[in-house]
Amino acid sequence: MEQQQEKQSNQNDLFDELTGIYNRHGFFSAAEQLLKNYPEQPFCLIYWNIRKFRVTNDLFGRDISNKILIHWANNLSEILHDELAVYGRLEHDNFVCCVPERFLNNDDWKKLGEISYTSDEITYNFYSCCGLYQITDRTLPISNMLDRARAAMDTIKDDYTSIYAWYDEDMWNTILEEQRINSEFKTAIAEKQFKVYYQPICRASDGLVISAEALVRWIHPTKGMISPGTFIPLFEKNGFISILDRYVWNEVCATQQARLDQGLATVPISVNVSRVEFYNPNLCEDLRNIVKKHNISPELIKIEITESAYATSPVQVLTVVEKLRSYGFSVLMDDFGSGYSSLNMLKNFPIDILKIDMRFLDNLSNNPKTAIVLESIIRLAKWMNLSVVSEGVETQSEWEYLRSIECDSVQGYYFYKPMPQENFNALLDEAAANSVSLLFHSLPEINNSILDVFNLSNTRESILFYNMLDGMGLLALSGDNVEILRANKGFYETVYNSTSKEKKILNKPFKDPVRSIVIEQCHIAKETNEMQQFRLDYKREDGRCVRLYVKLRYLGGGPQQELYLFSVHNFGEQQKAES
Ligand code: C2E
Ligand code: CA
Ligand code: CA
Repeated sequence: MEQQQEKQSNQNDLFDELTGIYNRHGFFSAAEQLLKNYPEQPFCLIYWNIRKFRVTNDLFGRDISNKILIHWANNLSEILHDELAVYGRLEHDNFVCCVPERFLNNDDWKKLGEISYTSDEITYNFYSCCGLYQITDRTLPISNMLDRARAAMDTIKDDYTSIYAWYDEDMWNTILEEQRINSEFKTAIAEKQFKVYYQPICRASDGLVISAEALVRWIHPTKGMISPGTFIPLFEKNGFISILDRYVWNEVCATQQARLDQGLATVPISVNVSRVEFYNPNLCEDLRNIVKKHNISPELIKIEITESAYATSPVQVLTVVEKLRSYGFSVLMDDFGSGYSSLNMLKNFPIDILKIDMRFLDNLSNNPKTAIVLESIIRLAKWMNLSVVSEGVETQSEWEYLRSIECDSVQGYYFYKPMPQENFNALLDEAAANSVSLLFHSLPEINNSILDVFNLSNTRESILFYNMLDGMGLLALSGDNVEILRANKGFYETVYNSTSKEKKILNKPFKDPVRSIVIEQCHIAKETNEMQQFRLDYKREDGRCVRLYVKLRYLGGGPQQELYLFSVHNFGEQQKAES
């Protein structure tokens, strides 16, 4: 009622262009006036947000989304028409109103947050949640009161069973703590208070470290270590997360570069990308530039994108995933099964690795169906050529179970907790001394350009190597162990008559008799420093035998690991052709 009259007399900048009701500024001054005009009347503030409104934007487009917002505003106007109330739209899908407390005495007020909108015979139903603040302290600025209503709303944002929550004083302490953390962010970055910890990821078959995940920690000068669960949600709200994530990516790349420069072995490291990044158009370029700046191969960095991002911003995430993969990064779907995904969703994203959420392991003992679901997921992932990591492995029996259902890799406290960089470096050094499976070794004795070729980056040489008709690859020998580190397309065509087996044979120790034959030939190739040529019957995993003609040449290496270049011909094929 009041609002209508005022509307005509006030300037336009008090009203929201889209919906015609008050904007933030207009609402602040109108609510202030209302409280002043009725000093004896008890009032409440309500703060709404539409659940998953972003998805609406992605799915139905801007026009429909705008119509829904207008529809909501009209709904408010209609219901509050005869009330002593002011209401407005702050921004996006955040609506507010200031109403007399008695208005909340019956359930009718809940209709303010119910939105069902029909257009072209399609009905869209939306769910909102809201926070309520009973205005007990009228000396507070309106913005401060709204913060309180919002804080109440935030407590149920992820709880789909509640539609409203009342503010209480504890919430205010949380807000203050949040504000303190935010105000300290810039100093923390400048003083390098954020530290990257590394949690190793192990091969499920034997527990060997094959990768790691970078997890940030805040080593606060007075509060000690603060875990990311406390500050990341805050930085996602105010946008600082972009700065923090880039800081972490830089640190990780610098670590990789330092190890390679010193000739030390390393493994690929996954970094987390916050879900809010998918609205940042520079995301992919930023990642690529950071990797380039440190002169490392994108193969050394994997990108973890949480499942909820795939579900809430599918269009953006798909574009990002495709681009990152074209830049040579592996992309991982993190927290799979944590609540947003369907198995169906998997087929829509060309990811490389599936990381199963730790809740699966938690539920394993109390719900027998969990095992069935988990096993089906792994089978499906295999079918789609995805590698599977399980996180949160805490016991030996969990490990054994995961191994038995052919999960590829494991991560969890049973193996290692996240550790500071120095400890992780020591672990890598120790692992490098014992095995060949650390993929990435910079070997200064070997001409760097040869290694570049094998890095499968997008250089011309690398593309040439990959597409060479002959089967070629790089083999590592360490003690009694031999495994293939890199292979080109020709190799898969020669051995498997297809390219689809890619990566499956990599980093798997050879078994006898192939192992001893190859080792013997390697020794001769190294001693004579000449090309070795020999025939080899190789039994594939599918049981079929291929007769190969192998050429082998020693490239170089250190005491722990020697590298050999090899090529293969399918000798059987040739014989057939000749006869
Ligand atoms: P996440 O990506 O799912 O990371 C795994 C979390 O599980 C880590 O918690 C890790 O320490 C913990 N964890 C690992 N093994 C076990 C286990 O066996 N049992 C249990 N109970 N927990 C285990 P953390 O380090 O506290 O990180 C929490 C979340 O914060 C991460 O979840 C990730 O979403 C986010 N995060 C961490 N670092 C970054 C970062 O640099 N950028 C962004 N955007 N997010 C990050
Ligand atoms: Ca992660
Ligand atoms: Ca995770």
